[in-house]
Amino acid sequence: MDNLTADQWKKVALVSLSFPQYSKWNGKGGLTEEDLPKITEVIKKAKSFGKPFRFWAIPDGKTSWEFFTHNGVDFINTDHPKECVEYVNSLEKRTFKNNLFSEVYQPKFSYLKKNVPVKNVILLIGDGNGLSEISSSVLANKGELTLTQLKNIGLIKTSSTDNFTTDSAAGATAFATGKKTKNRFIGVDSEGKKTANLTEILSEKGFSTGIITTDEIVGATPSAFYAHQKDRGMEKEIAQDLPKSKLNFFAAGGKSKVSGLHDFKLAESTKQVAESKADRLAYYLSDNGVPQVLKGRGNLLAETVESGLQFLKSKKKPFFIMIEAAQIDSGGHSNNVGTIVTEGIDFDRAITKAVQFADQNPGTLVIITADHETGGFSIPHGDLKTSIVEGDFTTDDHSATLIPVFSYGSGSEIFTGVYENNEIFHKILKTLKAN
Ligand SMILES: [Zn+2]
Repeated sequence: MDNLTADQWKKVALVSLSFPQYSKWNGKGGLTEEDLPKITEVIKKAKSFGKPFRFWAIPDGKTSWEFFTHNGVDFINTDHPKECVEYVNSLEKRTFKNNLFSEVYQPKFSYLKKNVPVKNVILLIGDGNGLSEISSSVLANKGELTLTQLKNIGLIKTSSTDNFTTDSAAGATAFATGKKTKNRFIGVDSEGKKTANLTEILSEKGFSTGIITTDEIVGATPSAFYAHQKDRGMEKEIAQDLPKSKLNFFAAGGKSKVSGLHDFKLAESTKQVAESKADRLAYYLSDNGVPQVLKGRGNLLAETVESGLQFLKSKKKPFFIMIEAAQIDSGGHSNNVGTIVTEGIDFDRAITKAVQFADQNPGTLVIITADHETGGFSIPHGDLKTSIVEGDFTTDDHSATLIPVFSYGSGSEIFTGVYENNEIFHKILKTLKAN
């Protein structure tokens, strides 16, 4: 490039240089501090003559494709053109710059000093929130969440009775009834027999019970905590189980799908939820589906959790509530990194309210887990300083990877270890001495 005349440059269509002449990089990790300026300088110089640029003999893999895409190379020299095109063309969709943050709360851990028996149980389920999903929201939230302040951590195995990889129906039924079942089954065992769930068992024992979800109330996860049907798609029958349920409170989307709730008062705002003296209360987040955070849901989940906990507390009875962040799963199914990250961070804002409640109300147990992972999600690259996460996917369906369980408050120590998902049910009853 140094010795060409202007006339000679006119005949140049493309600058093509040997990569190994500048660096011995093997395409894993990143370029060394010495090599990085050499590479970027030579690209810049070629571009200054107004010519397209390529290196030949590059390390041939995703990390190097990502590097060259972001550093001005016009042609990537590869022996895997199909994979390379797929990777580069999806890079923008798979790369998310985060602007939503969860303010990290430092838990007090006073339950470790005072041995207060468990009265209240808050079970938080992030639908599809596997370890990579959690990691993406941690790293996009400047490396910390309230969730990552907690100290008791376990792992659950999630297979259903008819499938290596569970769905949300079988996953939630395992949590709600203590029995693993088949995919698509709601609150019934593998033979299709109705099985008592936590809200039924605990309301018999004098507990108030509730559900909050960013799904419709007839969605698979909330349904398993009040309904008994053989298929998650039987929304009409599931909705008919709602008036027969023992719930004192629910907040969810899907108002248009529910009727006959004569015993329930309707709240119109989170403020009304917090102040209501009703015995049974419903708060609808939408007529049908609930919008995603990226589509303007705002801080509705955390506000509903805060007011829902106030409502249950005002009953002056012990309580059980299941809170679902439903749409992390949607991000996995649609392979949308931004949805996974923002719904995960939004979930942490709800977790914060639960942990703060536990600090203010000794005898409260908080459990945070997921039904399964969605998307075979991984996070190969990103930038901590600018809250950028690049994700990648192996599927548009669920995966069978083990799922973390975080726990906090009275009784939380028995949720550590590695165990089956239905053990969550038995451990909850054990901490309440209720089985
Ligand atoms: Zn799903």
